[in-house]
Amino acid sequence: MIVVMKAGSQDKDINFVLERLQGLGLQGHLSRGVERTVIGVVGVISTIPDLRERLELVAGVAEVVPISKPFKLSSREFDPQNTVIDVGGVKIGGREVVVMAGPCAAETPEQVMSTARAVKAAGARILRGGAFKPSTSPYSFRGLGEEGLKLLAEARQENGLPLITEVLTPQDVELVVKYADILQVGARNMQNFILLDEVGQAKKPVMLKRGLSATIQEWLLAAEYILAQGNRELILCERGIRTFETYTRNTMDVSAIPIVHKETHLPIIADPSHGTGKWELVTPLAMASVAAGADGLMIEVHPTPDAALKDGAQSLTFEHFGDLMKKVAPVAQAVGRTMAGSR
Ligand code: PEP
Ligand code: MN
Repeated sequence: MIVVMKAGSQDKDINFVLERLQGLGLQGHLSRGVERTVIGVVGVISTIPDLRERLELVAGVAEVVPISKPFKLSSREFDPQNTVIDVGGVKIGGREVVVMAGPCAAETPEQVMSTARAVKAAGARILRGGAFKPSTSPYSFRGLGEEGLKLLAEARQENGLPLITEVLTPQDVELVVKYADILQVGARNMQNFILLDEVGQAKKPVMLKRGLSATIQEWLLAAEYILAQGNRELILCERGIRTFETYTRNTMDVSAIPIVHKETHLPIIADPSHGTGKWELVTPLAMASVAAGADGLMIEVHPTPDAALKDGAQSLTFEHFGDLMKKVAPVAQAVGRTMAGSR
C-alpha cells in the first residue's frame, strides 16, 4: 500500500510514519516526487488488521491507497514519474536512447580496447563486456574473471565510457562493484534471490535481465527484491524469451517494452543480440525496440565475430555496428527521442 502524505507535511510526520511501520515489522520506502510525497509500504501486510485505517489517523497523512499489483515498489502506482538513472553523466530513462555496446566477453587487451574505441566512435555511451560468463555448457568460455574486469576497466578509462558487466554470484559483488558502473544480473540469474538481495544492497545501479522463460510478472517480482533492499537505481532488460521457435536463439519480446513502461516507472533496455542470436536480425529488432519505446539498447560487437570465443553468431562487426547506429537514430527521432551519433 501507499501512504500519501499531505502537501507540506513535515519531516517529523514522515519519520513518524516510517518508525510506526518499522515497529509493525514493515518497510517504508520514501519517494519524494515533484507533486507528492509517498511512502510505499511493503512486508506481510495482510496479517495486520486495520492497518490502512490506523495509518490514516496519523498526522500529515492524506490517504492510504492499496497497490493492486503484486509488484509494489516498481509499480507506476508507487511512483508515477519515470525513474532516470545518471551513470557518470549518461542518463538512462530520459529522452536519450542510450546504447551500451561491446563484446560478449573480454578476451584479449586488443579485442577489448579496439571494440571500445569503435563503439565509442559510432556513438555508444556505455561499454559492455563480460568477465564472469554464465554458460549453458561448462565447456564454453567462462570468462577471464578479474583479469577481464581489468581489461574492461582500462578501456572504460581510456574512452571515458561507463562500464556495465555481469556479476554471477553474491560473493563476487564486492569485487565487481570496484570495476563496474552498472552491475548486470543475467537472464540465468533472474531468480537467484540471494544475488538479488546482494546487488540490492550495492551502491551501484543494477540492470536486471529477463529470465529465459520468465513471465513479465515474475521478472517484475525479481526486480522487487532489488528495490526492497533499498537500491532504487534499477534498469530492466528484455533479452528474448524461450518459445517453440527454433529459427532464432530466443524470441525477442518487443511487446514487453511498452508493457513495462505502462506498469512500472523503471527504464527498460532492449538486447536484440541475445534476443535473436543472429547478427542480421540485430539491427531490425533494435529499430523495432526503439520504436516500441526502449530507453536504450545493449549490442554485442566484436572485431572478428567468426573468431569470437562467445556469441560470435550474434555479434556485429564494427562496420555493422556503425550501420545499426545510423539506422536506429532516425527511429529514435521519429518517436521523440535523441540518440548519440544521430547529430
Ligand atoms: C550477456 O549479456 O552476455 C548475457 C550472458 O546475457 P543473458 O544473461 O541475457 O543471456
Ligand atoms: Mn553474450
